[in-house]
Amino acid sequence: MPESAWDFVTRAMAELRALQGAAALLSWDQETYLPAKGGAARAEQLTALQGLAHERLTDPRLGEALARAGAGAPPDGAEGEARAAALRALRFDRDRAVRVPGDLVRALATAQSEGVEAWRAAREASDFPGFVPHLSRLLALRREEADAIGVPAGGERYDALLDGHEEGMRVARLAPILSRLTGWLAPLVERCVAAPPPDDAFLRGRFDLEAQWAFTMELLPRLGFDLDAGRQDRSAHPFSTGMDPGDVRITTRLFEDLPLSSVFSTLHEAGHGMYEQGLPARWRRSVLGQGASAGLHESQSRLWENLVGRSLPFWKGMLPRLARHLPQLSGVAPAAFHRAVNKVERSLIRVEADEVTYNLHVALRFELELALVRGDLAVADLPGAWDERMRRLLGITPPRAAEGCLQDIHWSLGAFGYFPTYSLGNLYAASLFAAARRALPGLEDGFERGEFAPLLAWLREHVHAWGRARPAEEIVRAATGRGLTDEDLRAYLEGKYGALYVS
Ligand code: ZN
Repeated sequence: MPESAWDFVTRAMAELRALQGAAALLSWDQETYLPAKGGAARAEQLTALQGLAHERLTDPRLGEALARAGAGAPPDGAEGEARAAALRALRFDRDRAVRVPGDLVRALATAQSEGVEAWRAAREASDFPGFVPHLSRLLALRREEADAIGVPAGGERYDALLDGHEEGMRVARLAPILSRLTGWLAPLVERCVAAPPPDDAFLRGRFDLEAQWAFTMELLPRLGFDLDAGRQDRSAHPFSTGMDPGDVRITTRLFEDLPLSSVFSTLHEAGHGMYEQGLPARWRRSVLGQGASAGLHESQSRLWENLVGRSLPFWKGMLPRLARHLPQLSGVAPAAFHRAVNKVERSLIRVEADEVTYNLHVALRFELELALVRGDLAVADLPGAWDERMRRLLGITPPRAAEGCLQDIHWSLGAFGYFPTYSLGNLYAASLFAAARRALPGLEDGFERGEFAPLLAWLREHVHAWGRARPAEEIVRAATGRGLTDEDLRAYLEGKYGALYVS
Protein backbone atom coordinates (compact mmCIF):
# COMPACT_ATOMS: atom_id res chain seq x y z
CA MET A 1 0.00 0.00 0.00
CA PRO A 2 1.46 3.42 -0.87
CA GLU A 3 2.28 5.70 2.01
CA SER A 4 -0.60 8.03 2.92
CA ALA A 5 -0.06 11.78 2.99
CA TRP A 6 -0.43 11.80 6.78
CA ASP A 7 2.12 8.99 7.14
CA PHE A 8 4.57 11.02 5.05
CA VAL A 9 3.98 14.07 7.25
CA THR A 10 4.42 11.94 10.40
CA ARG A 11 7.71 10.56 9.16
CA ALA A 12 8.97 14.01 8.17
CA MET A 13 8.06 15.42 11.59
CA ALA A 14 9.90 12.60 13.38
CA GLU A 15 12.99 13.15 11.25
CA LEU A 16 12.88 16.91 11.80
CA ARG A 17 12.58 16.47 15.56
CA ALA A 18 15.52 14.06 15.54
CA LEU A 19 17.69 16.45 13.52
CA GLN A 20 16.74 19.40 15.71
CA GLY A 21 17.38 17.35 18.85
CA ALA A 22 20.82 16.31 17.64
CA ALA A 23 21.68 19.93 16.79
CA ALA A 24 20.42 21.07 20.22
CA LEU A 25 22.63 18.50 21.94
CA LEU A 26 25.68 19.63 19.96
CA SER A 27 24.93 23.25 20.93
CA TRP A 28 24.54 22.26 24.57
CA ASP A 29 27.93 20.53 24.43
CA GLN A 30 29.43 23.61 22.79
CA GLU A 31 28.38 25.73 25.80
CA THR A 32 29.44 23.21 28.47
CA TYR A 33 32.19 20.71 27.68
CA LEU A 34 33.54 21.27 24.17
CA PRO A 35 37.33 21.63 24.24
CA ALA A 36 38.55 24.95 22.83
CA LYS A 37 40.11 23.29 19.80
CA GLY A 38 36.81 21.66 18.82
CA GLY A 39 35.05 24.92 17.99
CA ALA A 40 35.64 24.96 14.23
CA ALA A 41 34.52 21.35 13.72
CA ARG A 42 31.46 21.93 15.87
CA ALA A 43 30.38 24.90 13.76
CA GLU A 44 30.59 22.69 10.63
CA GLN A 45 28.62 19.89 12.30
CA LEU A 46 25.87 22.28 13.34
CA THR A 47 25.69 23.91 9.91
CA ALA A 48 25.39 20.47 8.29
CA LEU A 49 22.58 19.34 10.62
CA GLN A 50 20.69 22.61 10.32
CA GLY A 51 21.05 22.40 6.55
CA LEU A 52 19.52 18.92 6.56
CA ALA A 53 16.64 20.07 8.75
CA HIS A 54 16.02 23.02 6.42
CA GLU A 55 16.02 20.68 3.39
CA ARG A 56 13.50 18.36 5.02
CA LEU A 57 11.23 21.23 5.97
CA THR A 58 11.30 22.88 2.55
CA ASP A 59 11.10 19.60 0.58
CA PRO A 60 8.35 20.11 -2.05
CA ARG A 61 7.07 16.58 -1.33
CA LEU A 62 6.32 17.69 2.22
CA GLY A 63 4.39 20.65 0.82
CA GLU A 64 2.28 18.30 -1.32
CA ALA A 65 1.75 15.88 1.55
CA LEU A 66 0.65 18.73 3.83
CA ALA A 67 -1.87 19.88 1.23
CA ARG A 68 -3.23 16.37 0.68
CA ALA A 69 -3.31 15.44 4.38
CA GLY A 70 -5.25 18.64 5.10
CA ALA A 71 -7.76 17.99 2.32
CA GLY A 72 -9.07 14.64 3.59
CA ALA A 73 -11.49 14.24 6.49
CA PRO A 74 -9.51 13.92 9.76
CA PRO A 75 -10.35 11.22 12.33
CA ASP A 76 -12.93 12.15 14.96
CA GLY A 77 -12.22 13.48 18.42
CA ALA A 78 -8.90 14.26 20.05
CA GLU A 79 -6.90 12.39 17.41
CA GLY A 80 -8.40 14.50 14.64
CA GLU A 81 -7.86 17.72 16.60
CA ALA A 82 -4.22 16.84 17.25
CA ARG A 83 -3.72 16.01 13.58
CA ALA A 84 -5.24 19.34 12.50
CA ALA A 85 -3.08 21.21 15.03
CA ALA A 86 0.08 19.43 13.84
CA LEU A 87 -0.70 20.23 10.21
CA ARG A 88 -1.29 23.87 11.10
CA ALA A 89 1.95 24.16 13.11
CA LEU A 90 4.07 22.40 10.51
CA ARG A 91 2.55 24.48 7.71
CA PHE A 92 3.36 27.62 9.72
CA ASP A 93 7.02 26.56 10.12
CA ARG A 94 7.29 25.46 6.53
CA ASP A 95 5.76 28.62 5.07
CA ARG A 96 8.24 30.77 6.96
CA ALA A 97 11.16 28.59 5.81
CA VAL A 98 10.04 28.39 2.17
CA ARG A 99 9.33 32.08 1.73
CA VAL A 100 12.80 33.27 2.72
CA PRO A 101 15.16 32.88 -0.27
CA GLY A 102 18.35 30.87 0.26
CA ASP A 103 20.52 33.91 -0.51
CA LEU A 104 18.86 35.86 2.26
CA VAL A 105 19.25 32.97 4.73
CA ARG A 106 22.97 32.82 4.00
CA ALA A 107 23.37 36.61 4.12
CA LEU A 108 21.66 36.64 7.53
CA ALA A 109 23.86 33.84 8.88
CA THR A 110 26.99 35.73 7.81
CA ALA A 111 25.71 39.05 9.17
CA GLN A 112 24.89 37.35 12.47
CA SER A 113 28.29 35.80 13.02
CA GLU A 114 30.01 39.06 12.01
CA GLY A 115 27.48 41.01 14.07
CA VAL A 116 28.18 39.09 17.27
CA GLU A 117 31.90 39.49 16.85
CA ALA A 118 31.59 43.22 16.12
CA TRP A 119 29.23 43.63 19.07
CA ARG A 120 31.66 41.97 21.50
CA ALA A 121 34.43 44.32 20.38
CA ALA A 122 32.13 47.36 20.42
CA ARG A 123 30.83 46.55 23.90
CA GLU A 124 34.35 45.98 25.19
CA ALA A 125 35.42 49.43 23.91
CA SER A 126 32.00 51.04 24.41
CA ASP A 127 32.27 52.03 20.76
CA PHE A 128 28.76 52.30 19.33
CA PRO A 129 29.84 53.88 15.99
CA GLY A 130 31.93 50.75 15.34
CA PHE A 131 28.79 48.64 15.61
CA VAL A 132 26.57 50.87 13.43
CA PRO A 133 27.37 49.30 10.02
CA HIS A 134 26.72 45.80 11.39
CA LEU A 135 23.48 46.70 13.10
CA SER A 136 22.31 48.58 10.00
CA ARG A 137 23.00 45.54 7.85
CA LEU A 138 21.16 43.20 10.24
CA LEU A 139 18.19 45.55 10.39
CA ALA A 140 18.03 45.80 6.59
CA LEU A 141 18.19 42.01 6.22
CA ARG A 142 15.51 41.42 8.86
CA ARG A 143 13.21 43.93 7.19
CA GLU A 144 13.79 42.08 3.94
CA GLU A 145 13.06 38.80 5.69
CA ALA A 146 9.85 40.17 7.18
CA ASP A 147 8.71 41.28 3.72
CA ALA A 148 9.57 37.87 2.27
CA ILE A 149 7.57 36.09 4.99
CA GLY A 150 4.74 38.54 4.49
CA VAL A 151 3.03 40.98 6.80
CA PRO A 152 0.07 39.28 8.53
CA ALA A 153 -3.36 40.62 7.54
CA GLY A 154 -4.04 43.92 9.26
CA GLY A 155 -0.58 43.91 10.79
CA GLU A 156 2.80 45.49 10.18
CA ARG A 157 6.32 44.41 9.31
CA TYR A 158 7.39 43.90 12.95
CA ASP A 159 4.56 41.37 13.35
CA ALA A 160 6.21 39.04 10.86
CA LEU A 161 9.33 39.00 13.09
CA LEU A 162 7.37 38.73 16.35
CA ASP A 163 5.46 35.80 14.87
CA GLY A 164 8.71 33.84 14.68
CA HIS A 165 8.97 33.86 18.50
CA GLU A 166 5.39 34.38 19.64
CA GLU A 167 3.07 32.84 17.10
CA GLY A 168 -0.10 34.88 16.65
CA MET A 169 0.96 37.88 18.76
CA ARG A 170 0.64 41.30 17.13
CA VAL A 171 1.95 44.80 17.88
CA ALA A 172 -1.62 46.07 17.96
CA ARG A 173 -2.41 43.65 20.81
CA LEU A 174 0.89 43.92 22.67
CA ALA A 175 1.75 47.63 22.57
CA PRO A 176 -1.25 48.94 24.56
CA ILE A 177 -0.68 46.34 27.31
CA LEU A 178 3.04 47.14 27.60
CA SER A 179 2.30 50.82 27.68
CA ARG A 180 -0.29 50.34 30.47
CA LEU A 181 2.30 48.26 32.28
CA THR A 182 4.92 51.01 32.22
CA GLY A 183 2.23 53.47 33.32
CA TRP A 184 1.73 51.80 36.71
CA LEU A 185 5.24 50.37 37.11
CA ALA A 186 7.00 53.74 37.10
CA PRO A 187 5.15 55.06 40.21
CA LEU A 188 5.64 51.69 41.94
CA VAL A 189 9.41 51.92 41.38
CA GLU A 190 9.26 55.48 42.69
CA ARG A 191 7.57 54.30 45.90
CA CYS A 192 10.01 51.44 46.44
CA VAL A 193 13.18 53.48 46.01
CA ALA A 194 11.84 56.25 48.24
CA ALA A 195 11.55 53.79 51.16
CA PRO A 196 14.57 52.67 53.20
CA PRO A 197 16.41 49.90 51.30
CA PRO A 198 16.45 46.39 52.78
CA ASP A 199 19.57 45.26 54.58
CA ASP A 200 21.43 42.70 52.49
CA ALA A 201 24.81 42.87 54.21
CA PHE A 202 24.63 39.13 55.00
CA LEU A 203 24.82 38.36 51.25
CA ARG A 204 28.29 39.92 51.05
CA GLY A 205 31.38 37.81 51.49
CA ARG A 206 32.81 34.63 50.04
CA PHE A 207 30.51 31.66 49.59
CA ASP A 208 31.92 28.25 48.77
CA LEU A 209 31.20 27.27 45.15
CA GLU A 210 30.85 23.53 45.80
CA ALA A 211 28.38 24.25 48.59
CA GLN A 212 26.33 26.47 46.27
CA TRP A 213 26.32 23.74 43.65
CA ALA A 214 25.24 21.13 46.20
CA PHE A 215 22.27 23.27 47.25
CA THR A 216 21.08 23.71 43.65
CA MET A 217 21.33 19.94 43.12
CA GLU A 218 19.26 19.37 46.26
CA LEU A 219 16.72 21.97 45.11
CA LEU A 220 16.11 20.53 41.63
CA PRO A 221 14.37 17.23 42.52
CA ARG A 222 12.49 18.98 45.33
CA LEU A 223 10.97 21.39 42.78
CA GLY A 224 10.06 18.45 40.56
CA PHE A 225 12.85 18.55 37.99
CA ASP A 226 13.44 14.89 37.11
CA LEU A 227 17.17 14.14 37.22
CA ASP A 228 16.52 10.83 35.45
CA ALA A 229 15.14 12.85 32.52
CA GLY A 230 17.67 15.66 32.56
CA ARG A 231 20.78 17.05 34.12
CA GLN A 232 22.33 20.28 35.31
CA ASP A 233 25.79 21.52 34.36
CA ARG A 234 27.66 24.82 34.51
CA SER A 235 28.04 27.40 31.75
CA ALA A 236 29.02 31.04 31.40
CA HIS A 237 25.44 31.99 30.51
CA PRO A 238 22.71 29.82 32.03
CA PHE A 239 20.32 28.24 29.52
CA SER A 240 18.08 25.24 29.06
CA THR A 241 17.51 22.97 26.11
CA GLY A 242 15.19 20.03 25.61
CA MET A 243 15.94 17.22 23.17
CA ASP A 244 13.00 15.17 24.39
CA PRO A 245 10.82 15.01 27.54
CA GLY A 246 13.28 12.32 28.65
CA ASP A 247 16.41 14.41 28.02
CA VAL A 248 16.40 18.01 29.19
CA ARG A 249 19.62 19.92 29.93
CA ILE A 250 19.86 23.00 32.09
CA THR A 251 22.84 25.01 33.26
CA THR A 252 23.61 27.40 36.09
CA ARG A 253 26.54 29.62 36.98
CA LEU A 254 28.35 30.12 40.26
CA PHE A 255 29.98 33.23 41.71
CA GLU A 256 31.82 33.22 45.03
CA ASP A 257 30.62 36.72 45.91
CA LEU A 258 27.03 36.34 44.63
CA PRO A 259 25.66 33.34 46.52
CA LEU A 260 22.13 33.64 45.16
CA SER A 261 22.97 33.99 41.48
CA SER A 262 23.23 30.19 41.22
CA VAL A 263 20.01 29.63 43.16
CA PHE A 264 17.90 31.95 40.99
CA SER A 265 19.53 30.72 37.77
CA THR A 266 18.69 27.17 38.75
CA LEU A 267 15.11 28.11 39.65
CA HIS A 268 14.71 29.92 36.32
CA GLU A 269 16.18 27.19 34.14
CA ALA A 270 14.39 24.46 36.10
CA GLY A 271 11.13 26.23 35.19
CA HIS A 272 12.05 26.00 31.50
CA GLY A 273 13.27 22.44 32.01
CA MET A 274 10.15 21.19 33.81
CA TYR A 275 8.05 22.58 30.94
CA GLU A 276 10.13 20.50 28.51
CA GLN A 277 9.90 17.41 30.72
CA GLY A 278 6.14 17.88 30.96
CA LEU A 279 5.50 18.01 27.21
CA PRO A 280 3.32 15.07 26.20
CA ALA A 281 5.39 11.95 25.51
CA ARG A 282 2.97 10.91 22.75
CA TRP A 283 4.08 14.01 20.81
CA ARG A 284 7.82 13.48 21.23
CA ARG A 285 8.12 12.86 17.47
CA SER A 286 5.59 15.52 16.51
CA VAL A 287 5.83 19.24 15.88
CA LEU A 288 3.32 19.56 18.75
CA GLY A 289 5.80 18.27 21.34
CA GLN A 290 7.35 21.71 21.87
CA GLY A 291 6.67 24.77 23.98
CA ALA A 292 3.86 26.92 22.54
CA SER A 293 5.93 30.12 22.31
CA ALA A 294 8.95 31.93 23.72
CA GLY A 295 6.64 33.94 25.98
CA LEU A 296 4.89 30.91 27.42
CA HIS A 297 8.27 29.22 27.94
CA GLU A 298 9.47 32.28 29.81
CA SER A 299 6.30 32.26 31.93
CA GLN A 300 7.34 28.88 33.29
CA SER A 301 10.84 30.03 34.20
CA ARG A 302 9.70 33.33 35.73
CA LEU A 303 6.95 31.62 37.69
CA TRP A 304 9.43 29.37 39.50
CA GLU A 305 12.12 32.02 39.79
CA ASN A 306 9.93 34.85 41.09
CA LEU A 307 6.41 33.85 42.10
CA VAL A 308 7.79 30.80 43.94
CA GLY A 309 11.48 31.55 44.50
CA ARG A 310 11.11 35.13 45.70
CA SER A 311 8.20 34.37 48.05
CA LEU A 312 8.36 34.34 51.83
CA PRO A 313 6.96 30.81 52.24
CA PHE A 314 9.64 29.47 49.90
CA TRP A 315 12.42 30.96 52.02
CA LYS A 316 10.80 29.94 55.30
CA GLY A 317 11.19 26.40 54.06
CA MET A 318 14.44 26.68 52.13
CA LEU A 319 16.64 29.06 54.13
CA PRO A 320 17.48 26.47 56.82
CA ARG A 321 18.40 24.04 54.04
CA LEU A 322 20.52 26.65 52.25
CA ALA A 323 22.22 27.55 55.55
CA ARG A 324 23.27 23.92 56.00
CA HIS A 325 25.38 24.41 52.85
CA LEU A 326 26.32 28.04 53.49
CA PRO A 327 26.68 28.35 57.28
CA GLN A 328 27.26 32.15 57.09
CA LEU A 329 23.51 32.45 56.50
CA SER A 330 22.44 30.42 59.51
CA GLY A 331 21.56 33.39 61.74
CA VAL A 332 19.41 35.20 59.16
CA ALA A 333 15.65 35.40 59.66
CA PRO A 334 13.52 34.32 56.65
CA ALA A 335 11.66 37.66 56.62
CA ALA A 336 14.94 39.61 56.41
CA PHE A 337 16.19 37.24 53.74
CA HIS A 338 12.95 37.67 51.79
CA ARG A 339 13.33 41.46 51.88
CA ALA A 340 16.94 41.21 50.70
CA VAL A 341 16.10 39.04 47.67
CA ASN A 342 13.42 41.53 46.67
CA LYS A 343 15.53 44.65 46.66
CA VAL A 344 14.27 47.22 44.15
CA GLU A 345 16.85 49.44 42.49
CA ARG A 346 17.10 51.77 39.54
CA SER A 347 19.77 49.86 37.64
CA LEU A 348 21.23 50.00 34.18
CA ILE A 349 21.49 46.31 33.32
CA ARG A 350 18.38 44.31 32.35
CA VAL A 351 19.65 40.86 33.34
CA GLU A 352 20.40 42.08 36.87
CA ALA A 353 17.12 43.96 37.30
CA ASP A 354 14.61 43.11 40.04
CA GLU A 355 11.09 42.05 39.13
CA VAL A 356 9.63 45.56 39.55
CA THR A 357 12.01 47.38 37.21
CA TYR A 358 12.58 44.46 34.82
CA ASN A 359 9.63 45.12 32.53
CA LEU A 360 10.65 48.75 32.15
CA HIS A 361 13.92 47.54 30.63
CA VAL A 362 11.95 45.37 28.24
CA ALA A 363 9.50 48.15 27.33
CA LEU A 364 12.40 50.41 26.40
CA ARG A 365 13.86 47.79 24.04
CA PHE A 366 10.48 47.04 22.50
CA GLU A 367 9.77 50.73 21.78
CA LEU A 368 13.20 51.21 20.22
CA GLU A 369 13.30 48.09 18.06
CA LEU A 370 9.76 48.75 16.86
CA ALA A 371 10.86 52.26 15.82
CA LEU A 372 13.94 50.79 14.07
CA VAL A 373 11.90 48.22 12.13
CA ARG A 374 9.27 50.82 11.23
CA GLY A 375 11.99 53.15 9.99
CA ASP A 376 11.09 55.83 12.54
CA LEU A 377 14.51 55.67 14.19
CA ALA A 378 17.92 55.67 12.48
CA VAL A 379 20.48 53.18 13.80
CA ALA A 380 22.98 56.00 14.42
CA ASP A 381 20.47 57.72 16.72
CA LEU A 382 19.96 54.67 18.92
CA PRO A 383 22.20 55.67 21.88
CA GLY A 384 20.50 59.06 22.24
CA ALA A 385 17.04 57.52 22.03
CA TRP A 386 18.07 54.85 24.54
CA ASP A 387 19.36 57.36 27.08
CA GLU A 388 16.30 59.57 26.73
CA ARG A 389 13.88 56.68 27.34
CA MET A 390 16.02 55.29 30.15
CA ARG A 391 15.76 58.65 31.93
CA ARG A 392 12.02 58.75 31.36
CA LEU A 393 11.33 55.17 32.48
CA LEU A 394 13.95 54.62 35.16
CA GLY A 395 15.30 58.05 35.94
CA ILE A 396 18.93 57.13 35.22
CA THR A 397 21.38 57.62 32.35
CA PRO A 398 24.04 55.09 31.30
CA PRO A 399 27.55 56.54 31.59
CA ARG A 400 28.51 54.80 28.34
CA ALA A 401 26.96 52.73 25.54
CA ALA A 402 28.39 49.49 26.96
CA GLU A 403 25.96 49.87 29.87
CA GLY A 404 23.25 51.20 27.56
CA CYS A 405 22.26 50.06 24.11
CA LEU A 406 25.26 47.72 23.72
CA GLN A 407 24.50 45.56 26.77
CA ASP A 408 22.37 42.80 25.18
CA ILE A 409 23.45 40.24 22.59
CA HIS A 410 20.01 40.11 20.89
CA TRP A 411 20.36 42.91 18.34
CA SER A 412 23.83 41.68 17.35
CA LEU A 413 22.00 38.59 16.05
CA GLY A 414 19.31 40.74 14.48
CA ALA A 415 16.82 39.17 16.90
CA PHE A 416 14.17 41.89 16.61
CA GLY A 417 10.83 40.78 18.02
CA TYR A 418 12.27 38.69 20.84
CA PHE A 419 12.46 41.17 23.74
CA PRO A 420 8.69 41.52 24.27
CA THR A 421 8.47 37.77 24.96
CA TYR A 422 10.24 38.46 28.29
CA SER A 423 7.39 40.69 29.40
CA LEU A 424 4.82 38.26 28.02
CA GLY A 425 6.48 35.66 30.22
CA ASN A 426 6.09 37.82 33.32
CA LEU A 427 2.48 38.67 32.49
CA TYR A 428 1.51 35.05 31.79
CA ALA A 429 3.39 33.85 34.89
CA ALA A 430 1.41 36.17 37.18
CA SER A 431 -1.91 35.16 35.62
CA LEU A 432 -1.11 31.44 35.77
CA PHE A 433 0.08 31.65 39.36
CA ALA A 434 -3.05 33.56 40.40
CA ALA A 435 -5.20 30.86 38.77
CA ALA A 436 -3.20 28.08 40.47
CA ARG A 437 -3.71 29.79 43.85
CA ARG A 438 -7.45 29.98 43.25
CA ALA A 439 -7.55 26.31 42.30
CA LEU A 440 -5.24 25.04 45.07
CA PRO A 441 -6.08 26.48 48.50
CA GLY A 442 -3.07 26.54 50.83
CA LEU A 443 -0.69 26.30 47.86
CA GLU A 444 1.95 28.56 49.39
CA ASP A 445 1.74 26.94 52.84
CA GLY A 446 3.03 23.86 51.04
CA PHE A 447 6.13 25.79 49.87
CA GLU A 448 7.11 26.19 53.53
CA ARG A 449 7.18 22.41 53.85
CA GLY A 450 9.11 22.10 50.59
CA GLU A 451 6.06 20.80 48.72
CA PHE A 452 5.84 21.91 45.10
CA ALA A 453 4.19 18.88 43.53
CA PRO A 454 0.63 20.34 43.52
CA LEU A 455 1.81 23.43 41.63
CA LEU A 456 3.78 21.38 39.12
CA ALA A 457 0.82 19.03 38.60
CA TRP A 458 -1.44 22.03 37.93
CA LEU A 459 1.04 23.45 35.39
CA ARG A 460 1.39 20.04 33.76
CA GLU A 461 -2.35 19.78 33.29
CA HIS A 462 -3.11 23.36 32.24
CA VAL A 463 0.03 24.41 30.36
CA HIS A 464 2.50 21.62 29.58
CA ALA A 465 -0.07 19.09 28.34
CA TRP A 466 -0.99 21.37 25.43
CA GLY A 467 2.46 21.40 23.88
CA ARG A 468 2.15 23.50 20.77
CA ALA A 469 -1.40 22.38 19.96
CA ARG A 470 -2.83 25.84 20.69
CA PRO A 471 -1.48 29.41 20.56
CA ALA A 472 0.05 30.52 23.87
CA GLU A 473 -2.63 33.06 24.68
CA GLU A 474 -5.37 30.46 24.19
CA ILE A 475 -3.60 28.08 26.56
CA VAL A 476 -3.44 30.85 29.14
CA ARG A 477 -7.07 31.81 28.56
CA ALA A 478 -8.22 28.22 29.09
CA ALA A 479 -6.11 27.97 32.27
CA THR A 480 -6.95 31.32 33.83
CA GLY A 481 -10.29 32.35 32.36
CA ARG A 482 -8.79 35.30 30.50
CA GLY A 483 -6.17 36.12 27.92
CA LEU A 484 -3.22 38.48 28.04
CA THR A 485 -3.70 41.09 30.76
CA ASP A 486 -1.52 43.21 33.04
CA GLU A 487 -4.02 43.04 35.91
CA ASP A 488 -2.65 39.91 37.60
CA LEU A 489 0.94 41.13 37.45
CA ARG A 490 -0.22 44.47 38.80
CA ALA A 491 -2.08 42.91 41.72
CA TYR A 492 0.91 40.70 42.50
CA LEU A 493 3.61 43.39 42.31
CA GLU A 494 1.62 46.16 43.98
CA GLY A 495 0.49 43.81 46.75
CA LYS A 496 3.91 42.33 47.42
CA TYR A 497 6.02 45.47 47.13
CA GLY A 498 3.43 47.69 48.75
CA ALA A 499 3.84 45.52 51.86
CA LEU A 500 7.64 45.21 51.60
CA TYR A 501 8.39 48.88 51.00
CA VAL A 502 6.61 51.07 53.46
CA SER A 503 8.13 54.55 53.55
ZN1 ZN B 1 14.34 32.19 30.38
